[in-house]
Amino acid sequence: TSASSPTAPTDTVNDAAARPSLFDKCHQFFDPDGDYAKAKEADLYPYFRPIERNDGARAIMNGEEVVMAGSNNYLGLTSDPRVQEAAASSIKTYGTGCTGSRFLNGTLDLHLQLEERLADFMEAEACILYSTGYMTNMGVVQAIAGKGDMIFSDKDNHACIVAGTQMSYAETRRYRHNDLDHLEQMLERAHERHPDKGKLIATDGVFSMSGEIADVPRLISLARTYNAALMLDDAHAIGVIGPKGQGSASTYGRLQDVDLITGTFSKSFSSLGGFCVGDEDVIEYLRHESSPHIFSASMPPANVATVLKCLDILEEEPERLERLWEVSDYMREGFREQGFDVWDSETPIIPVVVGDMETCFRFWRDLLEEGVFVNAVVPPAVPKGQSLMRTSYMATHTDEDLDRILEAFYKVGTRHGVIGSNGVH
Ligand code: PMP
Repeated sequence: TSASSPTAPTDTVNDAAARPSLFDKCHQFFDPDGDYAKAKEADLYPYFRPIERNDGARAIMNGEEVVMAGSNNYLGLTSDPRVQEAAASSIKTYGTGCTGSRFLNGTLDLHLQLEERLADFMEAEACILYSTGYMTNMGVVQAIAGKGDMIFSDKDNHACIVAGTQMSYAETRRYRHNDLDHLEQMLERAHERHPDKGKLIATDGVFSMSGEIADVPRLISLARTYNAALMLDDAHAIGVIGPKGQGSASTYGRLQDVDLITGTFSKSFSSLGGFCVGDEDVIEYLRHESSPHIFSASMPPANVATVLKCLDILEEEPERLERLWEVSDYMREGFREQGFDVWDSETPIIPVVVGDMETCFRFWRDLLEEGVFVNAVVPPAVPKGQSLMRTSYMATHTDEDLDRILEAFYKVGTRHGVIGSNGVH
């Protein structure tokens, strides 16, 4: 073969002209004059920042101690010695990984114990585990709603519900965020035109950016009227709200009236994994038809043992939940008093609106310099001009931590004109 033949092996790996066009978007991803590139250049880019040590409410970043106000570690149990011991000792008994899916070699007695425990905790018939919260929602939606069915999904639902709707072959309608009149119009029309189609309403129980709680009683009533099933994603609700930490439906005393409730272990339960509770036959169906459950390796033993221990602590120490709510109320009140806009937050997730993207990145960086870590959230996750600091709290924040956070926000908020004479209030 000659060197110019199309089949000749050529050394063109580094030749830009020879790159597959598929990667063009990757090479052009960061517009050199765009907000992200400028932020990186000025060391204001707030993402992928490494944590060198983490004790829950405090962490070490770049050699400095920061107060952690950007974690979903709501009960503060990631650093609890009892939880760490449970995780470590499970590794001794079962090893570090399950090396197979639940369906085949990856079911431990520990998984069954956790499923039973969670079904009891959520006062449901049965429970199924998944290896992440993301896989849980994606896998439940995709298996429950199929071709010929309809899904009604809140526009602000988490990406994993959206992924489930995309994987399912069901027709999906997205209603305006928390606008249940809009949902009702859609359901009414669908009920008239397609009375026989299966219908699923899927919504976050607590919205992950705004910290609002969904109107569960009205959702239950709509589901009943229009013969739809209701699924709540309680990732930010279980172990967080409700008298015993049973999540959004339990805050209204309606735990029994929701068909499917999903949760995650990566937040209040200090681990990684997820679960769904519901009626036995529905859960048994998921065990056999939900792709991420069947085709992906099961939760590692340390993750399972962590959750079991966290459940013990949640049940034995209800004062943790009370502290979490006290902390959240204190912070919401504190931000409002300072003149910040915290939307309609009702939970330990408290968004603090700061304005455009550049202000957001600078605000984030200044807070870090004041020793406070939060999450910067910019469009498209939030509307333009409403970039925010997503702050979130844990039962183990001390009063001193909280005041340090408020002081830092006051200082930085005044500096950037977000509060005060030029501010939002
Ligand atoms: N649902 C919601 C509402 C979430 O916020 C998240 C995670 N941020 C998930 C599901 C996914 O959970 P996990 O991180 O455990 O996969």
